[in-house]
Amino acid sequence: MVFAHDTDVALRTAADLVNTLLGERDTLVDTADLADFVARWEWTGRITGDAEELAEVRELRPRLAASWRAGSDEELVDLVNTLLREGEALPQVVNHGDYGWHVHATPPEAPLAVRMQVEAAMALVDVVRLGERSRLRVCAAQDCEHVLVDLSRNRSRRYCEGGCGNRLAAAAYRSRRT
Ligand SMILES: [Zn+2]
Ligand SMILES: [Zn+2]
Repeated sequence: MVFAHDTDVALRTAADLVNTLLGERDTLVDTADLADFVARWEWTGRITGDAEELAEVRELRPRLAASWRAGSDEELVDLVNTLLREGEALPQVVNHGDYGWHVHATPPEAPLAVRMQVEAAMALVDVVRLGERSRLRVCAAQDCEHVLVDLSRNRSRRYCEGGCGNRLAAAAYRSRRT
């Protein structure tokens, strides 16, 4: 395990959110899309399901996407510190579900986009502290712009969670057979 479990989840959540913006079409365009995303990553706390919340989450995406494009630790740190400061992060140790002790830096009644912002930023703090920025990658498939977090022990993950690895393996298999 490279990061703590809650950090892994937060990073994968952030990548999934960023990926709704990248690629052929935007896949977070209405409140139903956001409801799906919230269910997929088991967000709890205050969720209004309204257009304002959707707009706020949509606006967060390019800011998180910038983390994957950061060219240095310093650049990533600037982004992370801005996200933490503007999100008024106040770390508190909590326990719920199966997570064990971990840190929340926003109260559950804070707006969803703010909680998403701060949770992603807190996870990125771990990435920086452990010198693991190289695990924030772009999918190796030529026709895919999606981002990923390589959480494998041997840094072997090259494809996004959208199925590019399987897709390319199937294509390679077909081309070997013909
Ligand atoms: Zn939690
Ligand atoms: Zn991909």
